Amino acid sequence: MLRVLTCTLCLTHDCTLRCNYCYAGRKYRHAMRHETARRAIDICIDEAERLRQGMDLSFFGGEPLMEWELLQWCYEYLESQAHRLIVRPRYGITTNGTLLTPKRLEWLAERDFLIGISVDGSPAMHNTNRCYADGSGSHSSVARAVALINEHPTVRSKAICVVSPNTVHLLAEGVQWLSSHFRREIGLNIDYWSNWTDEQFEILCKQYARVAELVLDSYRMDTPIRLSNLEHKILSHIHAHADNKDCVKCSIGEREIGVSVDGNFFPCSRLIGIGDEPELNFGNVHDGINRARQNYIIATRGNTTPECKLCEFRSRCLNSCGCTNHAASGYINRVSPFLCCSEKLFIETADTLAETLYAEQNPAFLKLFYQKSPGRAEN
Ligand code: SF4
Ligand code: SF4
Repeated sequence: MLRVLTCTLCLTHDCTLRCNYCYAGRKYRHAMRHETARRAIDICIDEAERLRQGMDLSFFGGEPLMEWELLQWCYEYLESQAHRLIVRPRYGITTNGTLLTPKRLEWLAERDFLIGISVDGSPAMHNTNRCYADGSGSHSSVARAVALINEHPTVRSKAICVVSPNTVHLLAEGVQWLSSHFRREIGLNIDYWSNWTDEQFEILCKQYARVAELVLDSYRMDTPIRLSNLEHKILSHIHAHADNKDCVKCSIGEREIGVSVDGNFFPCSRLIGIGDEPELNFGNVHDGINRARQNYIIATRGNTTPECKLCEFRSRCLNSCGCTNHAASGYINRVSPFLCCSEKLFIETADTLAETLYAEQNPAFLKLFYQKSPGRAEN
């Protein structure tokens, strides 16, 4: 299987929103310079050539659509260099949707971008955290963007729904809203940056059970809700039986380069927001990749938590995901108690759901998981 290096450019520190849980750092007017973007792309192409891998390019922020001209320029520049890559690059963007227009969507669609749209489900759930600077909710703006995407059935798009301690009681309602307004893949991003109390974890358990019921009903009605979290766990079970223990292995620092606005390199897009923390910075657009730092990160990544060594879920849980661990515990290689509990919950829920659907010989389930691959995982 061809491996792909993902280069993620943080185009700006600025954003149209001021979400309560934002981990992307302080919001102010500061965009990436074209020269910084060009050097970052060149270095990533060199790295892809060295590793004999493909290369994808992704855009992040702040809100990357605030730098629309720069984004287009980066796309054109990589296209002009694409002959150096062994496969055609693919493109992606993570956006809050507030600046998505029909013209921009058309441009992205024509170039087959994967559009990750940040939408936390129902108005009540979304507006709790995803607000404008004046405190007003942004749900009507993102609902407009969702409707635009729905007009383009072939656009590759995924909803990114953040679940926080202060919205977890609305999770099932949020998934219901998404499943009826956005008939595409839905990803639940648990807010591991926040502290979760035992009581909030109990609410997560109850809400996730309700989500599983919604998913079960959707399969029985032959209109499956595509919840990527559940699907990854089901696939990890199927792959485990095929002796493939690699399904949740993290490529931090090796096949991920996140580039900050100022051109510093981080081992994952989700770690760009930590600023210029020397511990996880492994080079910049002026000096290139710092191999000693990169090798240190690669050697350090994984999981050193003793309890995990004997755990039956070891190959199915996020225990070795560096950015998730960093968010939850402050270290790229240590799990937190909440991460452990929530991963067990997600695995056990997925197994129960899959066993039920398999026992029923549900046609939609069998088609999706046993007759054809559900496709490349998009994170
Ligand atoms: S839209 Fe994204 S970058 Fe902007 S404030 Fe919200 S989480 Fe942060
Ligand atoms: S479920 Fe918990 S103990 Fe098991 S591997 Fe995951 S984090 Fe470790």
